[in-house]
Amino acid sequence: LTDAELMQKLAQEITAAASVAATSGPIIGGVEKVGKAEDIRNPAKTSEVVGKVVQASQADVDDAISRASRAFADWSATPAATRAACLDKAADLMESRRAELLALCIREAGKTIGDAIAELREAVDFCRYYAARARADFGAPLMLPGPTGERNQLMLQGRGVFACISPWNFPLAIFMGQVSAALVAGNCVIAKPAEQTPLIAAAAVKILHQAGVPGDVLHLLPGDGPNVGAPLTRDPRIAGVAFTGSTDTARLINRTLAAKDGPIVPLIAETGGQNAMIVDSSALPEQVVRDVLISSFQSAGQRCSALRVLFVQQDIGHKLEEMLSGAMAELRVGDPSRLKTDIGPVIDAEAKSVLEAHVQRMDREGKLIYRTKLNGAAGEGHFFAPAAYRIDGLNRLQREVFGPVLHVIHYAADKLDDVLNSINATGYGLTLGIHSRIDGKVKYIAERLRVGNAYVNRNMIGAVVGVQPFGGEGLSGTGPKAGGPHYLHRFATERTLTIDTTAAGG
Ligand code: NAD
Repeated sequence: LTDAELMQKLAQEITAAASVAATSGPIIGGVEKVGKAEDIRNPAKTSEVVGKVVQASQADVDDAISRASRAFADWSATPAATRAACLDKAADLMESRRAELLALCIREAGKTIGDAIAELREAVDFCRYYAARARADFGAPLMLPGPTGERNQLMLQGRGVFACISPWNFPLAIFMGQVSAALVAGNCVIAKPAEQTPLIAAAAVKILHQAGVPGDVLHLLPGDGPNVGAPLTRDPRIAGVAFTGSTDTARLINRTLAAKDGPIVPLIAETGGQNAMIVDSSALPEQVVRDVLISSFQSAGQRCSALRVLFVQQDIGHKLEEMLSGAMAELRVGDPSRLKTDIGPVIDAEAKSVLEAHVQRMDREGKLIYRTKLNGAAGEGHFFAPAAYRIDGLNRLQREVFGPVLHVIHYAADKLDDVLNSINATGYGLTLGIHSRIDGKVKYIAERLRVGNAYVNRNMIGAVVGVQPFGGEGLSGTGPKAGGPHYLHRFATERTLTIDTTAAGG
């Protein structure tokens, strides 16, 4: 089969799988609660109900934490290799149920087929990678040098009950990444998915249970931030929180954790960005336009890594804008389940109205470079046409704009330091793009910008598990990098054991 035929076949499988009824509800002790359910609708076609969700109650939060607390001793004493085997099995199950999972990513989260495939791949990779890391780092204690007559060893062990709170924009990959890392490090987990995407999360939890994770070790609590997320993070029995989402929510959680009596609880936070690309006049314009298009508009700009601000050296600024407009005219916005679609909907009506308000402000404060036509795609979905504006400085963008809106700033060749200072001054530090063929300049920029992931002469869509570990600094997160060699360690506590070997039986 050719690639095109393979994609066609996959598209047919996905269509067939789309008819499977999906449900989500609190899954506590391996049992999914039934009750009064709400509809989850397709963001590309709001009349279509994708599935039903039962929201978790305060009593469910308490029940899940109690059960997880009781299950912790056994799970943390389970050999790391056994826990890792569950993740490998979950990866196999995800692959064998790919059509169902892809259909959910498309219908619940509005992903294009290409984005959904990449997302499933990442979720599978997270499970396999963390399984391998756990075998290597958690399998046997690390022996440390010590004086004669003494043996020292260092062990990594689970912390207790971890809360994993995830966003809607990578509802399978980020959800699985957090949950699988916490589990394989020896923790029990209470997972709280984003309110927009509980169906995918429920499918993932059922897969992990089927793969051997005991029901009392992993629980799912669908619901919103105030009613489920906040009580979860407030609970004194929670030993750690893994959070991916907006910077504002991370701050709220930080405050909640700091105000609690009891143990000091670590927060692993991966948050937003105000990501820039710097293009100088040595760059190849065709390459720049190709990479800007992908970095800004793929996934409807709803990636934390997406390009938001393009700094172009002013002598090539106008030419680049012209080329960019031509390329934006070719973008096809529409039904994400069609192979030809480049850009699907944004996640919901609220996201769309925030973006509409932003472009109205940009219409007043900036200069429109181009806005892609919807060409009738709008229908009843939350479609938003990609837009590019020229603005005069970063002070117009205090907050992350989470959608397909690009801002272009022209800079004079002798003002590069001002550009770098203004990027650092945003306080964010997630991704950065550099397009330049002058090695010394690339090095100069890369050394001065405080960002987690920098990409040179390519697009800014990366985060390959085990290859490009991903995560930011400052307002963009705490680290360690997801999909990197140190990620699991943050979910664990280190214990040393010092043995006097001269003692009888030592
Ligand atoms: P969000 O902060 O609105 O929600 C994230 C999660 O937090 C959801 O599950 C939500 O219910 C929960 N939540 C909300 N209030 C809470 C509270 N008071 N206590 C506990 N939990 C609470 O973010 P979102 O809109 O779902 O996701 C988009 C954001 O995520 C963007 O800012 C994006 O940049 C960021 N993001 C970052 C990364 C990264 O790796 N750095 C990856 C993906 C998304």
